Amino acid sequence: MGQISPQSKKITEKFFPENEEILNTTPALLKKKGFTDYEELIAFLNNLVAKHPQKIQLSFIGESQKGKKIPMVRLTNPNSSEKIKVWMQGGLHGNESASTEGMLYLLDRLLNDESYTSLLNDIDLAIVPMANIDGYLKVDRYAANGLDLNRDQTKLMAPESVVLKQAYTNFNPEVGVDFHEYTPYRKDYATLSDFGVTALYDAMFLYSGNLNVPKNLRQITDTLFVENARKILDENKLKHHPYISTTKVNGETHFSHGSVSARSSATNYALTNAIATLIEVRGVGLGRTSFKRRINVTFLIAISYLKTASQNQQLVKLAIEKASQQKNDVVVTSVRAVYKDKVDFIDLDTNEIIALEVTLRDALKSKPDIVRKRPIAYLIDENQKEIIEKLKILGAEIEQLTEDTEITVETFQIDEYDRSSVTYEKMNQQTVTVKLTEEKKNFKKGTFKISMNQRRSNIILEVLEPEAPNSFVSFGVLETSKGALLPIYRILN
Ligand SMILES: [Zn+2]
Repeated sequence: MGQISPQSKKITEKFFPENEEILNTTPALLKKKGFTDYEELIAFLNNLVAKHPQKIQLSFIGESQKGKKIPMVRLTNPNSSEKIKVWMQGGLHGNESASTEGMLYLLDRLLNDESYTSLLNDIDLAIVPMANIDGYLKVDRYAANGLDLNRDQTKLMAPESVVLKQAYTNFNPEVGVDFHEYTPYRKDYATLSDFGVTALYDAMFLYSGNLNVPKNLRQITDTLFVENARKILDENKLKHHPYISTTKVNGETHFSHGSVSARSSATNYALTNAIATLIEVRGVGLGRTSFKRRINVTFLIAISYLKTASQNQQLVKLAIEKASQQKNDVVVTSVRAVYKDKVDFIDLDTNEIIALEVTLRDALKSKPDIVRKRPIAYLIDENQKEIIEKLKILGAEIEQLTEDTEITVETFQIDEYDRSSVTYEKMNQQTVTVKLTEEKKNFKKGTFKISMNQRRSNIILEVLEPEAPNSFVSFGVLETSKGALLPIYRILN
């Protein structure tokens, strides 16, 4: 009951009253219906550039599949201060409208409201407000070819994924925030309580529990950046929770908590040794209901991240430097902690808050499963152009051997092989186990060499270690078969 229908007036009034303080400064807020369209987006950005040419630059990072140029803006105050680089994006899923509108609202306030303009003194900010333009214009989650751009950040199969990742890599931020909205009326919520439930939280914070993300960065993300944002939401009487989402396990509804997955932005950014968070605002399917409230939540969190970055510039930079020198083992696969806990919902029968006991699968309490020694470098055969191209987009620094060289390496031989019969993101995933053998091998001049002594080493190992869930082997970027030797080698010392 009520699951697919729009939110009742009672619930809106009791739990999510519209915010009346947000000003009508963005294209969608200036009209009664619908969301910002492409022409309005470009006109809005051009207008900001015309008014503030010293502070904001507009560029186009590439094109959507339907040929729409994707805008990115860079903002800072012109001065000689040292800056911390912050990346923000909205609209990666095209049906999460308040994420784009929240970014436009943020831009307007940073440039036109004196209570915020000084934030740009020591911040260099890049914003891609409408990352998935084709999806956004149809209010559809997916890109034009049906791919989910937040599952495509290691295999890089959609053109938008390539240009977004290239822009991210070129900008090289210390802090990355990806703004989304979540679905408060999920089909499986209909089966909870007597007549179903809806989600209670204005915002959920998704940050990485991936064990290859250096621990100090995971800690700063949670205890400083997310914590400061939680406090701002509390002060504004907005409800929040760590990210949870339902998943079916043997026919039973469980709740995933946090994320470890390198194919999605929060973990993907974090694996480049950055402070990273994905923000989920309660909104998918609500149309314009509580729209200003959702824009306000997005805006408050964005401002909080900018303030925290600005006030902790040195701390963050030193932490990233320290993280980039880590030598710990590689966690190829990990297992989530599974336990029961209570989560609050809104009961659709009584319109009251109800605490339900649910099974959580907690990524933030993951345990290592397959672990191996961190290599000092990987070698890749010279003919593997596609792999090398994707590694470069992910930001890897790559050298080539200048002469034929004999090197002791570990080789990967495929031991067990399975190809899924079910497609996921338009491909049939490969699952493998490998046999590692140490041997002395002759490598030809031109063989690619990727040193692990670089800031992005953690994203590199997530795509090169074959059994890792988002590796090039898992997603078929590198096709293989039982018994095959992979063209990837590990140098241990
Ligand atoms: Zn989303």
